[in-house]
Amino acid sequence: MPLISVVIPCYNEQEVLPQLYDELARVAGLMDYVNFEYCFVDDGSSDGTLGILRSCAARDKRVRFCSFSRNFGKEAAMLAGLRMARGDYVAVMDADLQHPPEMLLEMYEAVRGGEYDCAAARRTDREGETAVRSGGSALFAKLMNALSDTEYVEGATDYRLMRRGMVEAVLSLPEYNRFTKGIFSWVGFKTKWIPYVSRERAAGETKWSFMKLLRYSIDGMMAFSTKPLALSSILGVVCCAIAAATLLVTVVKTLIFGNPVAGYPTIVSLILLVGGLLMFFIGMLGQYLAKTYMEAKHRPIYIVRETEEGLK
Ligand code: UDP
Ligand code: MG
Repeated sequence: MPLISVVIPCYNEQEVLPQLYDELARVAGLMDYVNFEYCFVDDGSSDGTLGILRSCAARDKRVRFCSFSRNFGKEAAMLAGLRMARGDYVAVMDADLQHPPEMLLEMYEAVRGGEYDCAAARRTDREGETAVRSGGSALFAKLMNALSDTEYVEGATDYRLMRRGMVEAVLSLPEYNRFTKGIFSWVGFKTKWIPYVSRERAAGETKWSFMKLLRYSIDGMMAFSTKPLALSSILGVVCCAIAAATLLVTVVKTLIFGNPVAGYPTIVSLILLVGGLLMFFIGMLGQYLAKTYMEAKHRPIYIVRETEEGLK
């Protein structure tokens, strides 16, 4: 029988874990033609998450887990889970039941035939989400597609089931600044998008504030596009052209009419404008440099403190 690994990053999820575990067991019961293993990753939780995982692993040998030495973020947790997974198929799922476990049935049907390498959930309607957040994510999808060559599907989630081949491809990308949604798309393969309506979190609360999401979007764009860097060169050329034209006009005007040019206010605003643009682009350059610096350090993406086999 084929084995499906379900990777679940968890950060302070003690309220939902028991419910999630029951749901997963129910789905495993429905899909008795495959074996399951659950790869929980405790991303340095400060609540009872690790305790729950320990007791689940003691009761049920399908449950495996690894626990980080501190919070390293969801991207790191997903990577750890993918590395842990031994299945012929690997699913990635949030712990909060916003990704309905019963969708695994449909996902497995899509990939088992071999026509698709991956079946992924696409959010069509968002319950319990503010207009700002859904508008922001639509804008992000547009920008991402304009700036990078990696196709970004609007409403794409991390929830998906992949064939081993695709998992190996994802694992072959060693970067430190991981934007997994972009990586899933970058590696290619045939993906079937399955629409679903997002539910509200079963319990607990979201770990993503608006600022955190904004930061994440900017990091995602920077990880998959260097076009913003070229933008400064283009703008530089445009500024030079405008400057040359105004210079010519001023010289000709002075030669013909001999008028003294009184343009202090214009000069001041132009200096401010150009200075502002320069600083903006230097700042952006710095951001890319900082990313390169972090990559060059070759630090591990996460550190494991404990697994189901005991302390490290
Ligand atoms: N998560 C994580 N590390 C973090 C933040 C979140 O592993 O630093 C996990 C979290 O436990 C959940 C998933 O990532 O399983 C999605 O998080 P959340 O539900 O808070 O995000 P949202 O659904 O609101 O985007
Ligand atoms: Mg959630």
